Amino acid sequence: MIAEVIVDIAHSEVDRIFDYVCDEGVLPGMRVTVPFGRSVTTGFVMRVKEESSLPPEKLKKVYRVLDDVPALNSECLALADKLTRRYRCPKALVLRLFLPAEMRTGKVSERYKTVVSFTGDIDFIPPRARRQRELAAFLLENGEADSGPLREAFGGAVKALEERGMLHLERRRVFRDPYENLQKSAPVRPLTPAQEGAVETIEHTSKTVTLIHGVTGSGKTEIYLTLIAHALEEGRSAIFLVPEISLTPQMFSQLRARFGANCAILHSGLSAGERFDEWERLRSGDAKIAIGARSAVFAPLENIGVIVIDEEHDGSYSSESTPRYNTFDVALLRAKHNGCKLVLGSATPSIETYRRAKEGEFELITLPERINRRPMPEVQLVDMRREVKRGNPSPFSAVLKEKLEACLARGDQAILFLNRRGYSQTVICRDCGYVAKCEHCDVSLTYHSEENCLKCHYCGTKYHMLSACPQCGSVHINYVGTGTQRVERELKKLYPSARILRMDNDTTSGKEGHLKILQRFTAREADILVGTQMVAKGHDFPFVTLVGILDADMSLHFPDYRSGERTFQLVTQVAGRSGRAENRGEVVLQTYDPDNYILRYAASYDYEGFYAHEIGMRQAMAFPPFARIVRVMVTSEDDKLALAALKQVYTALQRVYAEEAEKFLFFNKMHAPVKRIQNKFRYQVLMRLTDGEPLPRIYDIAAEANSKDVLVYVEENPGNLS
Ligand code: ADP
Ligand code: ZN
Ligand code: ZN
Repeated sequence: MIAEVIVDIAHSEVDRIFDYVCDEGVLPGMRVTVPFGRSVTTGFVMRVKEESSLPPEKLKKVYRVLDDVPALNSECLALADKLTRRYRCPKALVLRLFLPAEMRTGKVSERYKTVVSFTGDIDFIPPRARRQRELAAFLLENGEADSGPLREAFGGAVKALEERGMLHLERRRVFRDPYENLQKSAPVRPLTPAQEGAVETIEHTSKTVTLIHGVTGSGKTEIYLTLIAHALEEGRSAIFLVPEISLTPQMFSQLRARFGANCAILHSGLSAGERFDEWERLRSGDAKIAIGARSAVFAPLENIGVIVIDEEHDGSYSSESTPRYNTFDVALLRAKHNGCKLVLGSATPSIETYRRAKEGEFELITLPERINRRPMPEVQLVDMRREVKRGNPSPFSAVLKEKLEACLARGDQAILFLNRRGYSQTVICRDCGYVAKCEHCDVSLTYHSEENCLKCHYCGTKYHMLSACPQCGSVHINYVGTGTQRVERELKKLYPSARILRMDNDTTSGKEGHLKILQRFTAREADILVGTQMVAKGHDFPFVTLVGILDADMSLHFPDYRSGERTFQLVTQVAGRSGRAENRGEVVLQTYDPDNYILRYAASYDYEGFYAHEIGMRQAMAFPPFARIVRVMVTSEDDKLALAALKQVYTALQRVYAEEAEKFLFFNKMHAPVKRIQNKFRYQVLMRLTDGEPLPRIYDIAAEANSKDVLVYVEENPGNLS
């Protein structure tokens, strides 16, 4: 037999099929080791055939077959083909997405234990062999036991009975359980009519994709769980995707409580061994529900019955390394292949998704009310410019302090949120709230200290650094954000007896960093939780009745056409943490820009209003979804090589531009706004296209310019243009 093999080397020169002689029983999707050049390398069997077109003396033999059963099923192989074509990258890179990294590096192994049971007749053990009789009695009573502890307890008796041929020893695979401490069961609650209706609609619509637009606390999770339960009842499997930073233990524990060991968790916080075991449980069919961040969309499942993408608007669903796939696109391919539904959920859908739903491409379900009609928390906007004028330099407004005191006096909990995402070097006037923006693009400018200038990341225009505010003349124009540590310190000064927890990148390292902080806060071991956007997502804290957003507008000034959307999302999500149980919640939203329409819409939970405004802007400025921003990046440690590659890429792209000029709204080559990162020089060709038609040619051009020393890649609607 002949195996068609892709070697696991991510290089375009070896990115093709190689034929090897193999034994009967080798199947597509298995991993093998093969002689390659002068060494041995791992490879993936793509197909198996009777004959090769190469002469027999040229054919080498597969050394070793690494899998008993294929690591990649036929759907995954087909999907890998599609992704390779879409993103024009070496097949090996795509295939790697489907396997846990530790499987490739061979650093973890399966874990086994030996289980002992008694198969003899206790009466044949001589009475003086008292320990042996005790051991036999113990095993008869317990059925079986792990050999390790048994040998510790009964010492030589185990060996002795073994020699009498009275013991049966069996080696068994053990799976590491990353979340064994989680809650084990939960009551299944009857669905509300709204939830019931949503499940009905999703299961009966002719559309593959449904968007659930439901306010925070509207019971979306219960809908997902029901859909998953139905899939399992039909003997099918399920994928449940959540954003990276909200891989909340709370969500896991809910799923674990409902579905037990049927859930497998795939996420980067696990140890290598745990991740490998969880993957293996899915591949073998022992577990039927894959839960995880975007990479779990590649879970080794067969016969998928439903795919859920929770918080679909989250930025972590776009991959930032090659291949730069979009999780939704991959999920849709899998849903179509399996003939199952794809369900997106969010309180604040992305503009693009919402537009597709409104235009009828997706089914749209709206849940405007919280469970039990609990009211949404009331949001109060506070003008921080006035606090500055009144001589209050602290991060807390007078209103916030007053409410915080009352909250602590009631014995409730509070969350203080710092809007750190998108904190970048933006110029903002602390007296009047003026922000420097590009005249052509209406996105915030970014300060670049090395050139002492302001740059627009969308068109490359440079502006002089300002020395005074053009609007009010003030010289207080450098905004320095407040850190979580400073907030914690100030809080301790104000409320010495309050117990404070801090949650940010410094305090959440390690697998259970999040878990511990959240558990402690849920258990009311603290009164105030201070944190960055990590606190915004999906947690359910019944005793929180006050949320303070300290600097709501910071993310508005991120140099990104989506900064408005992101801000609306963040504010809504954080506000949703308040008053989830019986008590009415409150939100204090501090800003330097109290008239900002995004904050106004967020404060009144008016998604429709926000959407109408935002979509009009996008259309007027020709931003996505009305255009596609495409950037070809060229980076290298060698500036000359980078420039040469840029020239090659640019010349080739110019031809596309000349032939399809009507598809280009913008086309230019330049330094990337940040000229050097980690010793690599960075250049870019920035384009804005009316649609995706020129994309395959652009990907081809980038792939061709890639070399050992120069990395060239394509980004579509990147989240960050630095
Ligand atoms: P969302 O995911 O939309 O933010 P959740 O699923 O977290 O909302 O639900 C909000 C709250 O309502 C949770 O505390 C949840 O336990 C509760 N809940 C959800 N569905 C029901 C139901 N059918 N009956 C009673 N309580 C429910
Ligand atoms: Zn000003
Ligand atoms: Zn611009």
